[in-house]
Amino acid sequence: MKQIITHYGYSDASGEYYVVIDTAKCDGCAECIRQCPKAALELVTLLVDLEDKVVAAVSEDHRKKIKYTCSLCKPEKNQTPCMTACSQKAIRCVWNPI
Ligand code: SF4
Ligand code: SF4
Repeated sequence: MKQIITHYGYSDASGEYYVVIDTAKCDGCAECIRQCPKAALELVTLLVDLEDKVVAAVSEDHRKKIKYTCSLCKPEKNQTPCMTACSQKAIRCVWNPI
């Protein structure tokens, strides 16, 4: 299975803010979605190696405001509900404020 790492978020003068999902590890179990207090995650279907694969993603509404959406989860400590929920270690937060 080809590995696709999806980054949802942005980098600007205030720092870097991304939710990163490794689609090779994600099995689409949706546990991160159930645990996200902001309903920021959803399942999407990606075409990987010519096959449809259902994986987690940040929903369109939250992609450009991830810094605000995720800030209460304390992503700088890497103990967010989505990360803790994921037994595959497929989701993580990159949180580097300047
Ligand atoms: S909990 Fe992990 S494996 Fe399950 S859908 Fe979320 S990112 Fe994918
Ligand atoms: S860090 Fe919090 S708000 Fe952001 S996607 Fe994960 S659980 Fe949801």
